[in-house]
Amino acid sequence: MSKIAIITGISGQDGAYLSKLLLEKGYRIIGLVRSHTFSNLRGLSYLGILESIKIEECDLADITQVTKILRQYQPDEIYNLAAQSSVSLSFNQPIDTFSFNTLSVFNLLEAVKIVNSGIKVYQASSSEMFGSISHLPITEDTEFHPRSPYAISKAAAHWTCVNYRESYGVFVCCGILFNHESYLRSTNFFMKKVIREAIEIKYTGRDVLEVGNLDIKRDFGYAPKYVEAMYLMMQKEQPGNYLICSGHSVSLREIVNTVFDKLGINKQKIVISKELYRPADIEDIYGDPQKAKKELEWDYNMTLDKLINLLLEEELSNFEKASK
Ligand code: NDP
Repeated sequence: MSKIAIITGISGQDGAYLSKLLLEKGYRIIGLVRSHTFSNLRGLSYLGILESIKIEECDLADITQVTKILRQYQPDEIYNLAAQSSVSLSFNQPIDTFSFNTLSVFNLLEAVKIVNSGIKVYQASSSEMFGSISHLPITEDTEFHPRSPYAISKAAAHWTCVNYRESYGVFVCCGILFNHESYLRSTNFFMKKVIREAIEIKYTGRDVLEVGNLDIKRDFGYAPKYVEAMYLMMQKEQPGNYLICSGHSVSLREIVNTVFDKLGINKQKIVISKELYRPADIEDIYGDPQKAKKELEWDYNMTLDKLINLLLEEELSNFEKASK
């Protein structure tokens, strides 16, 4: 019999790629959205899998609804990807970000305890939890020092999961993912914004690319490969925390310069806007993916240049199709 997976945040980047992967592995997928009317399922359509997924409306802030869905579908696995996921937005909406990103996790774990404590849970933790860092590379043992409301919410949710694992024996894995990108990334995230707007500068006469602090460094990877690690964690006998990252950081300046060079655009079109700086930021961060590579046999070797080439190619091809 095929396994049943519930995916929260199915309308997001990772929800789409994870769904595709799990469908290929023979799973039946139930995707939770906050609203049938307003949720954008464009990612699932883009990957040609929308018709293969049962979409259900569920308010994750309401434990009654969460419990009902678990009772109805009796899933083997739950992948909890839903979150207010933007660091920038979290500075403007700190209370909403914290409330939803933590309450939804408590509700899911409580519902698992109530309905069937054998259901496996994946929690989308984030490298942002590490924040201010004294030692690189980050490992699974590095302390957290969150630097944004988003990071605080993810750290609280992460410890909630660890607590339910230790206190009640719930099988809950925390994938601590570093930035990962794809064509389906929202345009308010750096790499997607740079690629999209650079193409617009080149082909539609857009004036400039406005960016914030280009000196910060991040560890970037490719989303379709990162969701493989989520699946692999959930197949283990014992749950754990795993860093999923490329192992290298790169400055945002290098990314902008590489994209502009590849498209042959004059760098005078890059405008630094102090308004896009964050109240607090992480200067440099990269992780050590050895635990995931060894224990999960997660296979990731993509260079930054290959990542940018892949993203640029797919964005250009879709841009050309839309312009015809
Ligand atoms: P996206 O922003 O693309 O997707 C977020 C999903 O969460 C969407 O489906 C969105 O639904 C849903 N969501 C947001 N707010 C609510 C809410 N209040 N109620 C119900 N659903 C809500 O994120 P990604 O797919 O990129 O990331 C998946 C998870 O991984 C997130 O938890 C993110 O924080 C985490 N993460 C991501 C990283 C990355 O680099 N991508 C790095 C580390 C962690 P809707 O469409 O209705 O808005």
